[in-house]
Amino acid sequence: MKEYLAGFDIGATKLALVIADRDGNITHRLREKIDIASGHFENYKDSLAYLGIGDQMKCLLRRAMKEAGIDNVAALGIGSAGPLKDGDIWDSTNIRPIHRPESTLAQPLYIPLVQPLEEESGIPVRLANDCVAAVLGEVYYGVGKDAKDKSDLYLVYVTLSTGLGGGVWDGGHLLIGKQGNAAEVGHFFVKKDGLRCGCGNYGCAEAYCSGTGIEKNARTRLINGKLQLGEDYGAILIELIREGAVKDRRFQNREPSKSELLEFVTSPLVFAAAEAGDRLAQSVIGEACYYGGIAFADIANAYDPQIITVGGTLVLEHPEILEPMKIEMHKHLNVEAPEVLLTPLGYDAAVYGAIALAQQAASLQS
Ligand SMILES: [Zn+2]
Repeated sequence: MKEYLAGFDIGATKLALVIADRDGNITHRLREKIDIASGHFENYKDSLAYLGIGDQMKCLLRRAMKEAGIDNVAALGIGSAGPLKDGDIWDSTNIRPIHRPESTLAQPLYIPLVQPLEEESGIPVRLANDCVAAVLGEVYYGVGKDAKDKSDLYLVYVTLSTGLGGGVWDGGHLLIGKQGNAAEVGHFFVKKDGLRCGCGNYGCAEAYCSGTGIEKNARTRLINGKLQLGEDYGAILIELIREGAVKDRRFQNREPSKSELLEFVTSPLVFAAAEAGDRLAQSVIGEACYYGGIAFADIANAYDPQIITVGGTLVLEHPEILEPMKIEMHKHLNVEAPEVLLTPLGYDAAVYGAIALAQQAASLQS
């Protein structure tokens, strides 16, 4: 009988599930918006747990198996946005369940993943953060697929999406760190007195080279005015933002104020404005490439990989940003230059990683 594996990819807003055979051929996939509104909370450990996502995963797994016409899967892997702790998401800033009891707002919130899935399915479940999972996906199904001896591979996977993250495969093993947080490459320090990062520090690479970074940089420049660079500085971007804002119900009868307009800044609009010749937007994208390139050099100098493989929505939609990042990286190297490649796994790097985790959990990996 053919053996199947299941893999989940948990992002800040979406939940994806794939079923694959043991060779990694995906046979079924499901994708939903992540459920932060079920209101299913329970006392847990020293605090509170939100069980809505575990419930949703159980449901999706049942549905996928039914639709795929299979009775069982051998193991389950999960690649998830972090931070992770002992099988749970712990106190995430990106996944914030609503309808939470007011009296618990000051407590850290757990989102159990491994335990509910193990209870539901009775099969081994393995969890890793999404970038660690993605580098495993690369090793077994992506750039490292044809390498017979995985101990000869030195790879770093970098995701450029809402944030900037990384995972490292170092000659046959994953780099983990004391609490599973190795390769927090988005928080490599790249600029003194730089923009504030989501982590609370200033001048992190992620504060410039990520979806949130690009939005923040553009917003900061718009708040700071025209910077004596001419009336057209930022004008195309402002026009694009206005076009989006006036569709909002609030502004059917009045013009949005400048500060209200800032709510509508998105990284796709910044890219569109840059392409249309807006110098403010071009400068924001230029900084994303410059500081991202410095982060790539730090990654190369820290881990000495053969290949840096890059995925995530930002770079998959705008692969043209890789070239200037590579040029910048080359200026700061003290190691033999790694190859920098767009991931061959596209948007599936993390789900392939989850399947690789499932392979390991089922001890199927040779
Ligand atoms: Zn940071």
